[in-house]
Amino acid sequence: MLSFISLGSGSSGNSALVYTEKTFVLVDAGISAKQLRIKLKDVGVDPDKLDGILITHEHGDHTKGLEVFCRKLDVPIYCNAVTRESLSSNVSSAEIWRIIECGDPFSVGDIVINGFPVMHDAVDPMGFIFEKNGKKLGFVSDVGHVTEVMKSTLSLVDTIFIEANYDETLLQNDERRPWSLKQRIASRHGHLSNKQVAELVGSIAGGGMLQRVVLAHLSADCNSPEIAKAEIILALSMKGISGVEVICAKRDQVSGPFMVECSDEKDAQFYEGGDYSQGEFILFD
Ligand SMILES: [Zn+2]
Ligand SMILES: [Zn+2]
Repeated sequence: MLSFISLGSGSSGNSALVYTEKTFVLVDAGISAKQLRIKLKDVGVDPDKLDGILITHEHGDHTKGLEVFCRKLDVPIYCNAVTRESLSSNVSSAEIWRIIECGDPFSVGDIVINGFPVMHDAVDPMGFIFEKNGKKLGFVSDVGHVTEVMKSTLSLVDTIFIEANYDETLLQNDERRPWSLKQRIASRHGHLSNKQVAELVGSIAGGGMLQRVVLAHLSADCNSPEIAKAEIILALSMKGISGVEVICAKRDQVSGPFMVECSDEKDAQFYEGGDYSQGEFILFD
């Protein structure tokens, strides 16, 4: 099986766990080390069992817990060379870096991972495809603009985890954010709006492979799960596409598990019941 759990999602901190029966990969460590340990324990995963930590980009809401979390762990950190450079001053205790590149697939345990470039105001941000037994999870965090590379890469996934940061009208009308910040958020190197995600999902779901969309990194002030979900569902129905599940990852709570691939009927039943023996999982729609 290939599954994932969001441990936290939003500007206050992002981290997710992608896993199989044998392999546990943490994606980003943007919540405190203490919270990371608590949340991993809650879902039944011992931090010592992690096989790798994968970093999408260096921004604090994706890396602020990394240094302390890694101090006592012997776990490799996977990121590209310039991201490592920008993190190395803060993450001095981590000695096990694995440098990765876009388009050069690598394995962590029984998961094959391939990175691809995304547009965002970080030094070299990446999205990832996680694959097991031909089933694919597309994982995209902060991104300001959907490129053709991104669209064609994601057109082959079964499940997509992607940020839907803001509703355009709510951002425009927000009185607390200065104009310059709004410009940054809405720019090609900022974040994705619900509308941009809806267009992307509408175009990639046409191929018939996409089963599930998990919306992430929702702004607390300029978006809501109801608005984001409705916009994506509308885009799908306008294209006559049905059967794609749309879910929003919660900000401070664990969300999932979301199963991407399952070769074992028993595991599938566990998932349906939302009752994993190792920990308490939250299933919601
Ligand atoms: Zn960012
Ligand atoms: Zn972020």
